[in-house]
Amino acid sequence: MSELEEEYQLEYFEEEGFVRSECPSCGAYFWTRDHDRETCGEPPCEQYDFIGEPGFAEEYTLSEMRETFLSFFEAHDHERIDPYPVAANRWRDDVLLTQASIYDFQPLVTSGETPPPANPLTVSQPCIRMQDIDNVGKTGRHTMAFEMMAHHAFNVREDAEETYAYDGEVYWKDRTVELCDELLDSLGADIEDVTYIEDPWVGGGNAGPAIEVIYKGLELATLVFMCMEQDPEGEYELKDGNRYSYMDTYIVDTGYGLERWTWMSQGTPTVYEAVYPEMLSFLKENAGLEYTPEETDLVARAARLSGQLDIDDVDDVEAARGDIADELDVDVTALRELVEPLERIYAIADHCRTLAYMFGDGIVPSNVSTGYLARMVLRRTKRLCDTVGVDAPLDELVDMQAKRLGYENRDTIRDIVRTEVEKYRETLERGGRRVEQLAAEYADKGEPIPAEELIELYDSHGIQPDMVEEIATEVGADVDVPDDFYSLVADRHDTATAVDETTASTDERFSDLPETEQLYYDDQERTQFEAVILDVFEHEDGYEVVLDQTMFYPEGGGQPADTGTLSTDEATVDVTDVQIEDGVICHRTDEDPGKGEFVNGQIDTARRRRLMRHHTATHIVMHAARQVLGEHIRQAGAQKGVDSSRVDIRHYERVTREDVKAIERVANQLVMDNVSVRQEWPHRHEAEAEHGFDLYQGGIPPGTNIRLIHVAEDVQACGGTHVGRTGDVGAIKLLATERVQDGVERLTFAAGEAAIEATQRSEDALYAAAAALDVSPEEVPDTAERFFEEWKARGKEIDDLKDQLATARASGGGDGTEVDVGETTAVIQRIDADMDELRAMANALADEGNIAVLGSGESGAQFVVAAPDGSGVNAGEVVGELASRVGGGGGGPPDFAQGGGPDVEALDGALEDAPDILRQVLNA
Ligand SMILES: [Zn+2]
Ligand SMILES: [Zn+2]
Repeated sequence: MSELEEEYQLEYFEEEGFVRSECPSCGAYFWTRDHDRETCGEPPCEQYDFIGEPGFAEEYTLSEMRETFLSFFEAHDHERIDPYPVAANRWRDDVLLTQASIYDFQPLVTSGETPPPANPLTVSQPCIRMQDIDNVGKTGRHTMAFEMMAHHAFNVREDAEETYAYDGEVYWKDRTVELCDELLDSLGADIEDVTYIEDPWVGGGNAGPAIEVIYKGLELATLVFMCMEQDPEGEYELKDGNRYSYMDTYIVDTGYGLERWTWMSQGTPTVYEAVYPEMLSFLKENAGLEYTPEETDLVARAARLSGQLDIDDVDDVEAARGDIADELDVDVTALRELVEPLERIYAIADHCRTLAYMFGDGIVPSNVSTGYLARMVLRRTKRLCDTVGVDAPLDELVDMQAKRLGYENRDTIRDIVRTEVEKYRETLERGGRRVEQLAAEYADKGEPIPAEELIELYDSHGIQPDMVEEIATEVGADVDVPDDFYSLVADRHDTATAVDETTASTDERFSDLPETEQLYYDDQERTQFEAVILDVFEHEDGYEVVLDQTMFYPEGGGQPADTGTLSTDEATVDVTDVQIEDGVICHRTDEDPGKGEFVNGQIDTARRRRLMRHHTATHIVMHAARQVLGEHIRQAGAQKGVDSSRVDIRHYERVTREDVKAIERVANQLVMDNVSVRQEWPHRHEAEAEHGFDLYQGGIPPGTNIRLIHVAEDVQACGGTHVGRTGDVGAIKLLATERVQDGVERLTFAAGEAAIEATQRSEDALYAAAAALDVSPEEVPDTAERFFEEWKARGKEIDDLKDQLATARASGGGDGTEVDVGETTAVIQRIDADMDELRAMANALADEGNIAVLGSGESGAQFVVAAPDGSGVNAGEVVGELASRVGGGGGGPPDFAQGGGPDVEALDGALEDAPDILRQVLNA
């Protein structure tokens, strides 16, 4: 059945005496030196054959194996290159994470537009495959983080008519297989036992023959020969149902899993023991996991079969575990209880390495893009630690891996992890209540909580399914957790933002026009130019004018378009907007200046200068933010303006006032240093090699040559207009910081005259406040604080009074007495408050139809009496009677009176007599 069958008839196989056989079990075709061999050698046709019996002559650690591989290929004429970041979206906008070494060279090197950094080359590329997340720990062989060791050769057909960035053939299939064979042999592998399985490869619009290298049941490498591309007219129909034809370029793309090679050399029960020996013993001890020799033996026997737990191959992981238990003749529950904690420990070690790669490469947790994926892995890891009983802080665990991987930003990594764990804790507190509700709802319906709800709970509240399960069990609800839960979640987010599609609707009107010459790069200071009008198009509310050349900057890279005028001999038209499409620059005008006319262009100089200052200032602020906040700071978006600009940065904490001041200091120092702002147009490949992928913080520009802007040590790919020296920016003032979303902070700032204007606005506000408070500006903070404190104290006092009032109203209980006086209720109470309060309370009581008799011993003995209309009581008389009992006097009108005397001792007695007094004066 093998497609491309003739592609596998290698001279090397013939010379070495290989035979081609068909596996009776799975039907695959494979090549082997062993003429008696029957099966292809890959599980499930065969089992792992190296557990306890390593397949190489010596044991290797991870780093020894990496070094051995790279040195082998160096010794065979390959140049060793440094690995790329795991955040592939640093250099390409179609993917988020690096999943294979070939990602480093896509799309420009593989298409032949750009030369590779070396040819042939070898690399050990860290990769992260989120889609394997649910398999990690269970299968014994899956790791989410891994290094793909590789050798690549980039070839072009001799007869190719087009020119490519590399040419001729370096080597192709025979040499590739030979190198793999030699490497295995040099490690002491039994090469009689190695099989090369034919497995044509198709992916991402390319295809070619490919070979899986199997040894002792383990797939050690894949050798891909990328040489075809999708072509509706193509001669070959491949397994994906599409047609393909041969390309001019043909590329050796190999992948050797570093972890698996290390594992093969050690023959440990799982790959994890070979890769994370120290971390696993630390975790086991920390979680208190201990195994008897019999249990250890059972775990090892189960490990040999654990390949069957691959969620990509089985529908139900627990059913597959049942099959393993049957095969080992043990109880499935006992087996699960034995191996599950271990599976979790394996996953923790792997995830910590994934996190070390992510944070080491400067990914900051957030709710989008790679930041989201990092957050998801971190939360899952924390949960695994809690479940299995690992109580070591997560930042310490991640640091163990970061240290081993040699990252230098380990303090920042720990800081990020700590902050993120704390955020997770807060999220759980909030989200737990939501789960309780939901669980109760579904328990009522008698239905399990469905997978969609789980994904939603995870996405919006960060709650993981096992936690939902825990809470749900308490209220008697079931939970339906899919085995591949995390890859489902990752799928939701694992798409890079699509390339800007707004420009996809190419304007056909412009198709016959030449690309406009962009004068604004030649001399960024010039604001006047001459040009010829190539065409004018009428537009809904104006005209679109295309010139042969222009000084007008079209909107782009967050910089607004220039405005200004175009003048012919007869007329002057206003340019209100400028856009670029497919290299054709289009000026929006209010009137038609006339096709074929010769024009003078004049840019609004003041506006342009303000935009240039703000653009250069944006680069300076970014640079300063990195210096102050850390190397992980990257731009998440920017918008330049005339009065202010903003730049969004990825940061895991809030930006403090101290941070702001430090950023301002560093930024303005750079302004005062007055260094020149340089532009250059190097080949993108050279630019990347020299400056790294942080060049692309403002976006990934197309083209082979890219424009770089140098501001001191800061280098950015940028298409905007800039001032000549940093001193021309004048001054930079940060105006505000704001959290745009979790993990993204917005810095708003002003440059040049806009900075002065902004400062003046702040000062005006301060002076106005000072005038209102009648103090000097310096005294405003203290005064405002004092006023605020007093205002708060008064508020509190009012609240207290209200409480007392309420108590008084409800009197009958407490200190107060309620008595009936005729038709009316009288409230008699001692409240030791000042007269203002007493009066207020008495009025309130009277408003409700009560007679109020209130006494206070606060300064002497004081009384307030209020009597509503129709009560038949004269308040003045009552006060006079009461006051006489405390050695004083008083009186007033019948409805409201006050008075008192010095004898506080007699106050209570007087109030006790009050009911009698009231009755005496009633209708008197
Ligand atoms: Zn087979
Ligand atoms: Zn820029």
